[in-house]
Amino acid sequence: MSEKMKAAVMKGIGKIDIEELPIPIPRDEEVLIRIKSVGVCGSDVHYFVEGKIGDYVVKPPFILGHECSGEVVEVGSRVKNLRPGDRVTMEPGIPCGKCEFCRSGRYNLCPDVVFWATPPIDGTFCEYVTHPAYFTYPIASSVSFEEAALVEPLSVGFYAVRRAQVEPGQVALILGSGPIGLVTLEVLLARGITEVIAVDISPLRLEKARELGARYTVNAKADDLKERVMEITRGRGVDVVFETAGSVVTTQMTVELVRKGGKAVLIGLPSVARVDFDVIKVIDKELDVLGIFRYANTYKGCVDLLNAGKVNLATLITHRFPLEKAQEALQFAHEHKMDAIKVVVNVGS
Ligand SMILES: [Zn+2]
Ligand SMILES: [Zn+2]
Repeated sequence: MSEKMKAAVMKGIGKIDIEELPIPIPRDEEVLIRIKSVGVCGSDVHYFVEGKIGDYVVKPPFILGHECSGEVVEVGSRVKNLRPGDRVTMEPGIPCGKCEFCRSGRYNLCPDVVFWATPPIDGTFCEYVTHPAYFTYPIASSVSFEEAALVEPLSVGFYAVRRAQVEPGQVALILGSGPIGLVTLEVLLARGITEVIAVDISPLRLEKARELGARYTVNAKADDLKERVMEITRGRGVDVVFETAGSVVTTQMTVELVRKGGKAVLIGLPSVARVDFDVIKVIDKELDVLGIFRYANTYKGCVDLLNAGKVNLATLITHRFPLEKAQEALQFAHEHKMDAIKVVVNVGS
């Protein structure tokens, strides 16, 4: 094996160069993985275009990418659960394991988490990474590397559905049918929740939602959303609403569309920190408002769903680029929000 690898390195806003970097060496509890596929996440696009998300500021050189899969090529001396040749997907955030959040199982809230492509931690738009074996999950031979990379966004939907404790018999509404909205839909369907209303303003995304099995779709541009939802639920409202669009308007709408005693689950990040939210309605309807930050303890369940063919992640992929064209991939994802669902970067061949 040569000592160097190719990496797509962000050098400034909108600028990525392919550079040669040393191949990392796995520590005792780590594995060395040859990267195969990396999904382009909204957060990657945001860093690429704006150079920051909130307090997280990119200081170039920086490597984006955290939704990934690959093949194990070397294992550290203490690794027992993986071997070279294993096809795997990797959970991108390594928590400290010691703080009160880690100890209570909510390690997504760990203040010391080390998360790929969250500055200053480099991500995975490169040929090789090292990763702790205990956060590296083998996938079945029937699962493609591209699909395996998308276990990361799937985890967000899986975690949101679990946190909301949605059950068959309930009606769920998903605001936004981008990748997170669509994986939330897939998890709901896999868990036997058949009455799902998917909302978007992109015909392509709504078509995908229908194809995946959404019972109802609403184009919020063409139709009055509240009217349609009340029509479908006979004036009752939905049991649970998942906000994945991250727009101010849809965030405000959640409290209007949910029934008394229902749940509003907020996943999408609005572009502004403060949203005019109808608090009286929250109290009057006695709503549970749940925030979703990434996920915890989801990867095994997600890999199982994927291995068993209970979710279809391949259908979310609309565009593909090689690592050498990482800059084009991010630019494309930025410019084609309406007509692309998931953009994937493939590494090697
Ligand atoms: Zn992501
Ligand atoms: Zn911790």
